[in-house]
Amino acid sequence: MPDTDKNNREEFELIRWIQRQAGMSDHLSLGIGDDCAIQTQFADQDLLTSTDLLIEGIHFKREWTSMFNLGRKSAAVNISDIAAMGGTPQSLFLGLGRPKEINDKEIEAFISGFLSEIKTHGAALAGGDTCASPGPLMISVTAQGTVATGDAICRQGASYGDAIYVSGYLGDSALALSLLQKGQRPDRYLRERFHTPSPRVILGQKLSKRQLATSMLDVSDGLLADLGHILVASKVGAELDLAQIPLSKSFQSALKEDAALIDLALAGGEDYELVFTSPLKDLDKQINLDHAVTRIGIVSQTPGLRIRQVNGEIYQCQRGGFDHFA
Ligand code: ADP
Ligand code: MG
Repeated sequence: MPDTDKNNREEFELIRWIQRQAGMSDHLSLGIGDDCAIQTQFADQDLLTSTDLLIEGIHFKREWTSMFNLGRKSAAVNISDIAAMGGTPQSLFLGLGRPKEINDKEIEAFISGFLSEIKTHGAALAGGDTCASPGPLMISVTAQGTVATGDAICRQGASYGDAIYVSGYLGDSALALSLLQKGQRPDRYLRERFHTPSPRVILGQKLSKRQLATSMLDVSDGLLADLGHILVASKVGAELDLAQIPLSKSFQSALKEDAALIDLALAGGEDYELVFTSPLKDLDKQINLDHAVTRIGIVSQTPGLRIRQVNGEIYQCQRGGFDHFA
């Protein structure tokens, strides 16, 4: 066994390095370095807070990704929760349980990836905690964001007759994961969708500012499971149009070889797209939402979720919700 301790500088030195890299941000009057961060609050804004825990072997495998991309994704999936409420991400907090064999270069690459992602969205790393882990790499991310008072878009709020929309394409990330699990190499586009998803922050903000959506969440566990949360919270049902599920070129060409792959788009997970409901029926034709959205169905009075095929028959998805490597 190599003496990995030599690769690992003292914790306080690492924190000082993180502090220098993180810099400051307008909304923070005190960032990394004290017992707490101080963020200025405005009277007309609500504070959004969300936490995610990522554990090696359950949520990610180090051999499939670079530490830089792992850092990016750790930030992206958390920021996606702020986007899903229509908010603006501001302060992120990063807890790290670090196994001995991860050296300083790797942890720096992770932090650099994390910072590059949050800076894309105008957010700042405002604090965290660092500790040795006797087991796997553990990453805990907390994101805070703001939204104009009362404008946050929650899961409840969908009503009968609303159109159901989803941003971007579905299934790419799950297709990449299934190829990796089979020992195959996904194409570049699919790899990016899996390793470095882009949270739809600007789309979420536009929907909340203009009060266009009645309910919303981000697709992390798969469209059916996540839309199911909206339906339960809103006490309504839904009918989806299978032909309208938006699929990328890479996904479509895989689908030509294996028609059963459609279930990855319906229930695969880790898309980090936004699914939302709206009384407006032509949002997909509005070009100024920053990101393409597709109308995929309608909210119905009948409870449950039905997927209608082109021939009018109901489609039965063979997959449950997303359960990572299970
Ligand atoms: P405490 O004893 O209060 O836990 P620490 O020595 O752990 O303080 O942390 C010192 C400062 O560094 C705090 O501001 C903390 O938020 C920040 N910090 C520690 N670890 C991280 C990390 N992984 N990412 C960002 N900030 C961190
Ligand atoms: Mg600490």
